[in-house]
Amino acid sequence: TDRITAPVRMTDDIDDPAIRPGDLDEFVGQPQLKEALRIAIEAAKLRGETLDHILFSGPPGLGKTTLAQIIAREMGAAIRSTTGPVIDKPGDLAAQLTALTHGDLLFIDEIHRLNPVVEEILYPAMEDYMIDVMIGEGPGAKAIQLPLDRFTLVGATTRVGLLGSPLRDRFGMIFRLNLYEVDELLSIVKRSASILKISITEEGAWEIAQRSRGTPRIANRLLRRVRDYAMVRGDGTITQGSADAALSILGIDPLGLDDLDRRILTVVAEDFSGGPVGVRTIAISIGEEVRTIEEVYEPYLIRIGFLKRTPKGRETTDAAREHLLAGRRS
Ligand code: ADP
Repeated sequence: TDRITAPVRMTDDIDDPAIRPGDLDEFVGQPQLKEALRIAIEAAKLRGETLDHILFSGPPGLGKTTLAQIIAREMGAAIRSTTGPVIDKPGDLAAQLTALTHGDLLFIDEIHRLNPVVEEILYPAMEDYMIDVMIGEGPGAKAIQLPLDRFTLVGATTRVGLLGSPLRDRFGMIFRLNLYEVDELLSIVKRSASILKISITEEGAWEIAQRSRGTPRIANRLLRRVRDYAMVRGDGTITQGSADAALSILGIDPLGLDDLDRRILTVVAEDFSGGPVGVRTIAISIGEEVRTIEEVYEPYLIRIGFLKRTPKGRETTDAAREHLLAGRRS
């Protein structure tokens, strides 16, 4: 997907390390999660132990990778990072695990997409700090157990329900990240603007925050696009006017919805008279993958009360219908 509001990482848009929060105090929002993490980190340090395995779930762009890095820093530990789908063979994961030394973190993004054969390596690794490796090939091959140093696995997934219970149950802590409130996004926009030395008014920052779909990564991306606009079409300062103009050009409406969101809503509200309609049918109608709709687009549409998940399928609300009509009038 090449949508400007798509929260997944895009090649032209690698998260700027300068604006990534470096510690829990800089990490905006998610207060309960931060408090629970602070306590776990402090307690592990007091006991001189390694941290329990941690699972983060939530839509892309909400800070799961950032938290893994913050935990490593606060524990004074090294971190190795990988992604579920890129680990092909059990041996690849075994190599990652044996490279870890006491207290290190292994971060596995998209852990729900691990190959099942690879995933099985993780069970004894997480529980007993052991892996079973095969030595040799054919009839002479034999399995040996290899001890590992105590490490902390940090997994990230878009939805905790996508994980099988053998894996899920081996995490000592499971945290769900929620979409951010507008005032939290506002502080993220202002913080990023100040680090990047972008001049922005309070109203300009508010306009970007409101149109960021509850997602810090989108807030930072929109900030950069609006900065371009303000430089080229204005005097460089981001105001409410320049933010609104820039985001309208990008097809992002006042609630942060783009063309694809509106197509999802239109299919349900109009083609299927408000639903219920199955997500597969929606996916086919708009030419997107079911997974992308469920994990990337729906959480925000549900959050703002435009879409409902029912046992029979998706339904749109009156508010969604009014928003679509208002969009067409303007
Ligand atoms: P995820 O791993 O959930 O997809 P990331 O941790 O990569 O998300 O976050 C994407 C970017 O959004 C980060 O580089 C960071 O700049 C910003 N970000 C995420 N969460 C926060 C937060 N709570 N406070 C400030 N910035 C954040």
